[in-house]
Amino acid sequence: FYIGLFMVVMVFLKVGFTYLASFFMVPLRNGVVRKLRNNIYHKLLMLPIGFFSEERKGDIMARITGDVSEIENSIMNSIEMLFKNPILIVISLVVMVYMSWSLTLFVFVMLPVAALITGRVGRTLKKPSRKGQDKMGDILSTIDETLSGLPIVKAFNAEDKMNRRFEAETTDYYRTMNRLMWRRDLAHPVSEFLGTAIIIIVLWYGGSLILNNEGGLAPEDFMTYLVFFYSIINPAKAFSSAVYSVEKGLASMDRIDQLLQAENKIVDKPDAIAKSTFEQKIVFNKVTFGYREDKILHNISIEIEKGKTVAFVGKSGSGKTTLVNLLPRFWDIQNGGSICIDGVDIRDIKLKSLRGMMGYVSQEPVLFNDTFFNNIAFGVENASMEQVVEAAKVAHAHEFIVESAEGYQSNIGDRGNKLSGGQRQRLSIARAVLKNPPILILDEATSALDTESEKLVQVALENLMKNRTSIVIAHRLSTIKNADSIFVFKKGVVVEQGTHDELIENKGEYSKLCKMQSF
Ligand code: ADP
Repeated sequence: FYIGLFMVVMVFLKVGFTYLASFFMVPLRNGVVRKLRNNIYHKLLMLPIGFFSEERKGDIMARITGDVSEIENSIMNSIEMLFKNPILIVISLVVMVYMSWSLTLFVFVMLPVAALITGRVGRTLKKPSRKGQDKMGDILSTIDETLSGLPIVKAFNAEDKMNRRFEAETTDYYRTMNRLMWRRDLAHPVSEFLGTAIIIIVLWYGGSLILNNEGGLAPEDFMTYLVFFYSIINPAKAFSSAVYSVEKGLASMDRIDQLLQAENKIVDKPDAIAKSTFEQKIVFNKVTFGYREDKILHNISIEIEKGKTVAFVGKSGSGKTTLVNLLPRFWDIQNGGSICIDGVDIRDIKLKSLRGMMGYVSQEPVLFNDTFFNNIAFGVENASMEQVVEAAKVAHAHEFIVESAEGYQSNIGDRGNKLSGGQRQRLSIARAVLKNPPILILDEATSALDTESEKLVQVALENLMKNRTSIVIAHRLSTIKNADSIFVFKKGVVVEQGTHDELIENKGEYSKLCKMQSF
């Protein structure tokens, strides 16, 4: 009865404490995962636009999801083991040394040999694991491209092609993972075999010592000794599996580190100033720029006075967007020249205040899967309903918003796919109206639209440009007829400058472009 009672109490204590241990481990594990994801996301937002033209979206998503889970499963799973098992092993070893130091010395010679063998197999895990995670990135990239390009895939009957591409990727992943898991599963048999072999050797060596009356160990003490020795084997085995796991997780850690350690060159200078008002003019001063070695812009000088509207025109690929993207410092000038606002180099202005002065309406409106209200209020903290409605009215968006089922609280779908092109564009204009910035950048904001919606968007844009300084990139020259100054780009150089009438008079590039567009 007492033995039974003792065992029940002991088992209760054992499971109770085991549960308590995991109870305290759970927030630690999940906390590490949360922190990692937050850090990666934070870094993604900090990194300059240029970083992402070299990276694939799917691969970044794989890092923030799969690699983080991998770290959770491999490293965090082993942490408990890394603390608990050494304690068990040390205690058992102390008792063993106390009982017979000569036998323990013998054991000590053999353990490093076993550790070496297990370590060898474990080290080979990192490379295939890294490869597996890279492959997962490929798979996610393909899924992402497929989902966003679904209409094209269907229209071009490319389902089979996409299927083959996807299957090739999953097959690659399958092979890599097979190789990885075959090796990982070797951990158990290897350590089991080595453990048993060591026990047998100790049994044989210790047994022969006792039979010859050497070593100063009585037979019953030898049995106790073996019990202690045996209690090392299991934690040691678990420890070696943990080493395997950690190796595997380290491959993911490397991939995440690559992101976290990526250098961000576009940052505030230590003595950057906060500048919230725009008073006089923007000056592009001999700007030369290239994304890589070859230069895209050559020695461009432009002055834009406050309150004026300037237009950039020219063939596609002539560098208009590139120049405009230098103003909010999406990229930094590398090859010489400078851009100044009111005489202050933009690299000496705090990024937040620099971008705070600008509104940006891009060719392809960027909307979020959220309500009309939140999409318009995106760039402004604590916007009121009245302000949002006011902005929507200016942008000619109010009419179609109130016609929708839940008005301003209706969801607009992924990237606004429940709306027409013109509606999307007017929504992004409303967002710029609400932000009310002194400087406006419009990148071919009407080029993707039909004539009917273009008219509405044009009116919205004119409302938006009132009393502001605007830089307009335009393909349809009819939309910029009234601009104060038009700059004509050709292969990264400004070849002409003037008002519409002056340039027509000149009979140069601009008048050629105009002729091509009129009937
Ligand atoms: P535009 O706006 O006049 O149509 P862009 O400024 O978009 O012209 O492009 C100018 C040139 O820069 C093009 O030759 C294009 O290939 C190149 N380019 C644009 N973006 C990048 C990028 N992220 N990396 C490398 N080259 C780019």
